[in-house]
Amino acid sequence: MLQAYSHEPFTDFAIEENRSAFAAALQKVEAQLGADYPLVIGGKRLMTAETITSCNPANKSEVIGVVAKAGKEQAEQAMEAADAAFQSWRKVSPEERANLLIRAAAIVRRRKHEFSAWLVKEAGKPWKEADADTAEAIDFMEYYGRQMIALKDGKPVNSRAGEHNRYLYTPTGVCLTISPWNFAFAIMAGTTVAPLVTGNTVLLKPASATPVVAYKFVEVLEEAGLPPGVVNFVPGSGSEIGDYLVDHPKTTLITFTGSRDVGVRLYERAAAVQPGQQHLKRVIVEMGGKDTVVVDKEADLELAAQAIVTSAFGFSGQKCSAGSRAVVDQAVYDEVLERVVALTKALSVGEPTTADVYMGPVIDQAAYTKIMEYIEIGKQEARLVAGGSGDNADGFFIEPTVFADADPKARIMQEEIFGPVLAFSKARDFEEALDIANNTEYGLTGAVITTNRERIEQAKRDFHVGNLYFNRNCTGAIVGYHPFGGFKMSGTDSKAGGPDYLILHMQAKTISEMY
Ligand code: GLU
Repeated sequence: MLQAYSHEPFTDFAIEENRSAFAAALQKVEAQLGADYPLVIGGKRLMTAETITSCNPANKSEVIGVVAKAGKEQAEQAMEAADAAFQSWRKVSPEERANLLIRAAAIVRRRKHEFSAWLVKEAGKPWKEADADTAEAIDFMEYYGRQMIALKDGKPVNSRAGEHNRYLYTPTGVCLTISPWNFAFAIMAGTTVAPLVTGNTVLLKPASATPVVAYKFVEVLEEAGLPPGVVNFVPGSGSEIGDYLVDHPKTTLITFTGSRDVGVRLYERAAAVQPGQQHLKRVIVEMGGKDTVVVDKEADLELAAQAIVTSAFGFSGQKCSAGSRAVVDQAVYDEVLERVVALTKALSVGEPTTADVYMGPVIDQAAYTKIMEYIEIGKQEARLVAGGSGDNADGFFIEPTVFADADPKARIMQEEIFGPVLAFSKARDFEEALDIANNTEYGLTGAVITTNRERIEQAKRDFHVGNLYFNRNCTGAIVGYHPFGGFKMSGTDSKAGGPDYLILHMQAKTISEMY
């Protein structure tokens, strides 16, 4: 019997031994940079003429890897392979499928710093963030493995005399996994192994910015015993193969994490029934956020400032959970703002070559341009009190930036920037602070800093977000502890890492037998 689940511990980089082990892993990865990575279709390797070049966002000239790029022909081959593999994979027992995840988790755990080092290089993650990303990937495997075992006999239903009724969860078919670059390991792995462990087969289309770490993960699954065709590795462009596979009549399930616009478009397309299609597609979409840290006048103000800074600038604000808005009661506004500015100015920015770099680059030129445009918009809309500059000579670096006195309806208070840009708004009282916190189309995460019990209860009732935190930051949900997913335009609230997640990948079947 498996040990009870508990989350993978984070590495303490204050310990010299951990720092040197991580530095050694970085060196090991550096020695492997620039290699070619093929598609994996039906267990076979296939290099293509067209490729994706993955670069280090902190050092543009450093090539992480050259990855094969699937076109429609290869996408179709992958679909055929996944469809064929489904016929046998769906009959493999839930325990066996779960054990594959547990073995894969053990392999990753043994190579933990190495995987984190790939994330440092390919996604520009600071060490601490990379370590948390790898830990979360391990957690998804350990947690979903156990969840599948718990669901293997379905759920109890009543039977009458002479009748035996069962209620079982069965796989759906071929799942298209479209994963993001911001949790290039955790979310990629989580959204691959959830359909896998529930008996579906998978077409994995990783983000084009971070395909190498995804390939490394496919290798781990193979080492753990993955049969050919059960997970197929098909990086490629959204417009070319993304749409093709979303529309494909054999796709039964789509799991996507990314921007609002792409998610909404995908949701609409998936609803259309194509010729030859005999089912309705299931869709799981996790999209953006414009998340708020609310500070009450009765609060630990140092804790408030720390929570705001961590929420806004962890991984350069490139999380859909990022707290890009601080809404503070007027009674404590100046004090909190002043402390946040001081903390922000002390943050170190640069290539994450040591554990001491707090903030690395943003992911690519397009992100850099978009964020710098928002900083210009912010200068028109509010008062710049920290940061505001960028430097994209060698890598895509942007200073952690704070705007004060933003109107709650200002664009920098409404639109997801996905970068290190924080806006402050002043609230008359707690009531108004909650109104402002709820005033966007998103509803993903939120935090409230207060010592007042009544206001805690009020926020529990009225703060309309999928993940609500008190007296802490609003990022860093842990698998099995803080099931993650948002309301409103943040997505389908599917709650990754939660007890209801796997069921979304299966169809329940009622079986009634008379004796
Ligand atoms: N689960 C992550 C967190 O709680 C965010 C995921 C995302 O940004 O997509 O911070």
